[in-house]
Amino acid sequence: MTKEIALTFDDGPWGTRTVRVLDELTNRKIPATFMIWGEHMAEYPEILKVAAENELFAFGNHTYHHRHLTDLSDKEILSELNKTDDLFYELTGEKLDFVRPPFGDCEAHTLAIIRRPIICWSLDTMSWDHGNPAKCVEAIHKAKDGDIVLMHDFQEADVLALPEILDYLEEENFTFKSIPELLGAQLNDEAYIYYSRDKRAKTGFGGS
Ligand SMILES: [Zn+2]
Repeated sequence: MTKEIALTFDDGPWGTRTVRVLDELTNRKIPATFMIWGEHMAEYPEILKVAAENELFAFGNHTYHHRHLTDLSDKEILSELNKTDDLFYELTGEKLDFVRPPFGDCEAHTLAIIRRPIICWSLDTMSWDHGNPAKCVEAIHKAKDGDIVLMHDFQEADVLALPEILDYLEEENFTFKSIPELLGAQLNDEAYIYYSRDKRAKTGFGGS
């Protein structure tokens, strides 16, 4: 049986850590999705450009300053998204079609403002919590068909764990997909929160 999985990397681009992730994925021809922190893109525009020129990779909007959107006014939320969109477009000529809210905060009123697909996750290596590469690899042993995996190119533990994570998933016959590849035509529907290929919710978008 073919199993699919989407690796997502948050909070970059972040200097040599992102470069190491890009090199590992590129050498192994593995697609992935990067959720872009606007301030970091402003600091590392050349790294972002190199990543965006590579057809393996897709990109989402992770806001400009990485604040809890639930603490912000409507105007501030839009500014967080638009600033990131504008700089990404300036550097790549491309748009950011989906959003990953910082900390996974997605309350009803923020969703109504965002009006784009929200990409959450079904599996988290928790690198941001423990900083331990072995624990990142261990977390991946729970991977199942259709999972969206949360990793961080901003976190050294995930960067160090990545080769072993890819080895494991390849041995387990997973096929790697970018977020648009994994979710396919679902992304053309009205906005949902996506947790995996098979789990999405409309809470906050006014539907059921
Ligand atoms: Zn983040």
